[in-house]
Amino acid sequence: MKIETLIIGAGAAGMMCAAHAGRGVLVVDHAKAPGEKIRISGGGRCNFTNLHTSPANFISQNKHFSKSALGRYTQWDFIALVDQHRIAWHEKTLGQLFCDDSAKDIIAMLRAEMDKAGAQLWLHTEVGEIGHDGTHFQVTLIRDGRHIQVETKNLVVACGGKSIPKMGATGLGYQIAAQFGVPVVTPRPGLVPLTFSDERFKPLAGVATPARVSTQGVSFDEAVLFTHRGLSGPAVLQVSSYWHESVPIQINLNPMGDLFGALQSHRQSDGRKALTTVLGLHLPARLVDFLRADLPLEGNIADQSDSKLKALCDALSAWSLMPAGSEGYRTAEVTLGGVDTDALSSKTMETKAVAGLYFIGECVDVTGWLGGYNFQWAWSSGWAAGQAIRAA
Ligand SMILES: Cc1cc2nc3c(=O)[nH]c(=O)nc-3n(C[C@H](O)[C@H](O)[C@H](O)COP(=O)(O)OP(=O)(O)OC[C@H]3O[C@@H](n4cnc5c(N)ncnc54)[C@H](O)[C@@H]3O)c2cc1C
Repeated sequence: MKIETLIIGAGAAGMMCAAHAGRGVLVVDHAKAPGEKIRISGGGRCNFTNLHTSPANFISQNKHFSKSALGRYTQWDFIALVDQHRIAWHEKTLGQLFCDDSAKDIIAMLRAEMDKAGAQLWLHTEVGEIGHDGTHFQVTLIRDGRHIQVETKNLVVACGGKSIPKMGATGLGYQIAAQFGVPVVTPRPGLVPLTFSDERFKPLAGVATPARVSTQGVSFDEAVLFTHRGLSGPAVLQVSSYWHESVPIQINLNPMGDLFGALQSHRQSDGRKALTTVLGLHLPARLVDFLRADLPLEGNIADQSDSKLKALCDALSAWSLMPAGSEGYRTAEVTLGGVDTDALSSKTMETKAVAGLYFIGECVDVTGWLGGYNFQWAWSSGWAAGQAIRAA
């Protein structure tokens, strides 16, 4: 069977690419349905982009690489597509756009765009050996137990990263890269809960509080969630993508910096109240109880001098913790690292060494923050490759 373009992976990037790559496109996926991660994303409502998307929201060894694709297929282009398909959406917070109804609407939209472009989709299809004769790729596909030989001019690798193997992630993209001598930045889990060597946070499991979480000079102001195993919540997930083993994280439980003034006012108005009671007006009561083990929280608020209150606020602003690890690929929303961007054209996503070989989406060393950025990278990089293939 001879085709123009074989796309491995019917996820966000692969479907977007298929909708733009012109004639003779076959998309294959070993899963039973396309876009499974889209389906479960954003609590079933898919945070499909972010109004504030810019290259600054992405982590990569080359911070300039994402500029071209993000600049040529923007969040506004994707919003226009969503509007064209009459999918209702809303901004939740921090520029994050979600479907009003269901993430399935985004999958249906991409399927419709693929159909319009005449792209074929084969599900339940495994990828076997891949050869290359200098101009074309020879790929063995295994479908219904049958081995099918496909010859294709373009091979687009869109099979994502290693995150959530249960959802079909295999890391095949890195193997294909290795086969063709394309360098890979070591993959690691990102947007992932952090764990500790003991169960210290077990009594706090389920407690959430706004905080500023920092590591290695990067900070995020969002919620922290305590879990049985450690820390989660958006602020911790964001920081996890920058965190490395043996490096502490700092939690500022006073992110607005207004606690000292508030405690001074309480001393005036509620002097006879216990310090813990007053603190409980600003922090979750279970967290205040937990902090008693390490901080001097005895006595009434009236008994606290300015210097004592100041010392307390300083301590709450600089809680330093040393995570032991992360929950790993089992729960990581993304995979950091991936195909080294030095090996790719930032305009087309084609490898510089092998004509016709493209890598798009999460398998590339471009990883977004939490908040719709990762889908925007999938749309932008998929579009960039699709355009280039159609134009060639
Ligand atoms: C729980 C969860 C929630 C998320 N929520 C959001 C969100 O709301 N907003 C956001 O921007 N990002 C979100 N993300 C991240 C986002 O899903 C990914 O960044 C995005 O899906 C990457 O797109 P992709 O096309 O590169 O890879 P994927 O969407 O992972 O698609 C890869 C496809 O390749 C297929 N495949 C893999 N290996 C093989 C193989 N060996 N043979 C054949 N097919 C194969 C897979 O079945 C899959 O269909 C979330 C991730 C998770 C896990």
